[in-house]
Amino acid sequence: MDRKKLIVLGSTGSIGRNTITVLKSKKDYFDVRGISAHTDENNLIKLAKTFDIKNICLTGREPSFEEINYKGSGGLIEMIKNTEADIVLNGISGSAGLASSIAALESGKDLALANKETIVMAGDLILNLAKKNNTNILPVDSEHSAIWQLIRGFKKEYISELILTASGGAFRNRSISSLKNVTVNAALAHPTWEMGPKITIDSATMANKGLEVIEAHFLFGMPAEKIKIVINPKSYVHSLIRTIDGYLYSQISLPDMSVPIQNALSWPEILPANSAALELPGISLDFQALDEEKYPIVKSAYYALEKKGAYPLAFNAANEVAVAAFVDDSIAFTDISVLVEKTMEKEWPSKLESFAHIMEVDSQIRRVTEEFIKRTRHN
Ligand code: MG
Repeated sequence: MDRKKLIVLGSTGSIGRNTITVLKSKKDYFDVRGISAHTDENNLIKLAKTFDIKNICLTGREPSFEEINYKGSGGLIEMIKNTEADIVLNGISGSAGLASSIAALESGKDLALANKETIVMAGDLILNLAKKNNTNILPVDSEHSAIWQLIRGFKKEYISELILTASGGAFRNRSISSLKNVTVNAALAHPTWEMGPKITIDSATMANKGLEVIEAHFLFGMPAEKIKIVINPKSYVHSLIRTIDGYLYSQISLPDMSVPIQNALSWPEILPANSAALELPGISLDFQALDEEKYPIVKSAYYALEKKGAYPLAFNAANEVAVAAFVDDSIAFTDISVLVEKTMEKEWPSKLESFAHIMEVDSQIRRVTEEFIKRTRHN
C-alpha cells in the first residue's frame, strides 16, 4: 500500500483521538498533512509536532500559537482545499461538519466520514458531488463500516435487509415512565461507547440510530423498509445483513472505534489492528427488539425517509436544537422526541436544490424548533 496523505478534522475529539491512536501505530501507511481542532489548542499543537504537520487549523477561537496557520470555519475550508491529500477524515461533531465534507469532495479528496450529519442533511446532493468529482465516501460510523465490509461479498440484489445494531443507550434498563425526569448527567453516561456529549444524548434517545437509518439509506441505496434496528446491549455485533436466502451475516468485535477508522483509511486494503480481539468463549450475543414506545424518535427518522426532501434535514436540525435545550436544562429529556415530531409535522420543501438551499432551510427549521421550545420550557 502506498503511503496515503491525510487531513484529520476534529483531531482532539472522540473520533480524532481514536484516529491518532491508529496513526501512531501506522506511520508507514499514513502521512498526516493537515489537522484541525475546535478549541483544544494545546493538544492540537502537540499532535502537529508529533506528526510534523505543517497545515494546522483552529476553528473555535483566536489561536495563540504562531504555528497555527489557518483559523475559523473559513480557514478550515481553505486548509482542506490547499493541502495536498488523498483522504479527509471528518470527525467534526454535528451539522458544522457539512461544509468540510463538501470542500473535501470538491477538491478531489476521498471522504472518510464519521460526521453522519453530512449524509443526513445533504443526502443525494453529497452523493452526486462525490460522483462528479470521482471521489469516494468511506464510512467510519461503526454500523456502516460493518455493513460496508459485509456487502463486499454479495451482488446488491442478493441483499434483502440491513440490520443496524444499537446498544440501547444510557437508559435501556429504565422504565418509560421514569424517563421524564432523567438528568443531563445520567443521559451522558453511555454503557459501552465513550463519545462526545451530543452523540451520547442521541444514543439515550435513539436519535443516533434514527440518523444512522437515514445514513444507511443514502450510503447503501437501500429503501427504508429494508433497514432494521435491533438492540445488542453489549455492542459486540456492529451490524448484520440478511441475504434473500434468509442467511444472516454479521460483523462481531469488541466496541473499539479505532478499527472502523483504520478500515476507512486503508480501504480497499485491510491492515492488522492493534486493538484487542474478541475471544468468543463466555460471550453471549443476545438481541432484543427495539421498544418503539420508549424510543419514539426512531419513528420520526423513518417518517423523514418516507417524505424525503428536507425532512431528514428537519429531523437532524430539530434534534440538534432540542438536545442543546436539554443540555441547557430548558426542557425535559422526553421533550426532545416531541419537539422533533412537532417540527417535522410542519410543511418542508420536497426537494433540496443546492447546498445554499440546505443552509437556508436548516435555519428555518431551527427557528421553528426554538419557537416550540419557548412554549415548552419546564422552568
Ligand atoms: Mg454508530
